[in-house]
Amino acid sequence: MNYAELANRLSQKNVTLVAVSKTQPPERLLELYQAGQRIFGENRVQEMLEKRVALPDDIQWHLIGHLQTNKVKAVAPFVRMIHSVDSLRLLEEIDRQAQKAGRVIDCLLQFHVAQEETKFGLDETEAWALLRSPEFQQMQHIRICGIMGMASFSDDLALVRSEFKTLKNIFDRLKHDFFTAAPYFREISMGMSGDWDIAVEEGSTMVRIGSLLFP
Ligand SMILES: *Cc1c(COP(=O)(O)O)cnc(C)c1O
Repeated sequence: MNYAELANRLSQKNVTLVAVSKTQPPERLLELYQAGQRIFGENRVQEMLEKRVALPDDIQWHLIGHLQTNKVKAVAPFVRMIHSVDSLRLLEEIDRQAQKAGRVIDCLLQFHVAQEETKFGLDETEAWALLRSPEFQQMQHIRICGIMGMASFSDDLALVRSEFKTLKNIFDRLKHDFFTAAPYFREISMGMSGDWDIAVEEGSTMVRIGSLLFP
């Protein structure tokens, strides 16, 4: 599927397309930019910084990969959304660096629902503890806009679908318990090249697509 077709199908469903451009050279991003894409996702801070200076200013950079606290400072002045918040400590550092940069940074809580052991992310107990903590309640420079997760890398589509359902249920419970009065808490970042259509059926509001867009 080409970019225009995918972008069109997603916009009809009000789903935001994050073009995952990791490992791609700036020229490839520029091609998509010229076709209308403005949101790009990178998983490494250094790579994002290098591409940012080579590309137009109005690109919205989303950080989708695991973020180390010592790298937050470098992205705080400009990053549009951080999808991969998986600890209170990281969130505290984002809040601190956002304050220094005079910004409020949009964040998603990353949840672990896949079967692979290695994937980063919170479970529900950890997330509830984070959101109930006094430290979280004092933060003024971050905004939790929703959640992010990845399904298992599997041909078992029923498994993938059930993991997306789990993410949607987590989102609904968080909304109910913590964010009923927060209209900005509305994003479910789930779905990649191999499973985005299932994710959209299960309630995704934001898909992160790489290889399908950069064949
Ligand atoms: C690479 C990556 C994607 C995109 O994966 P594709 O299968 O190439 O679409 C999405 N999310 C994260 C966190 C990634 O690291």
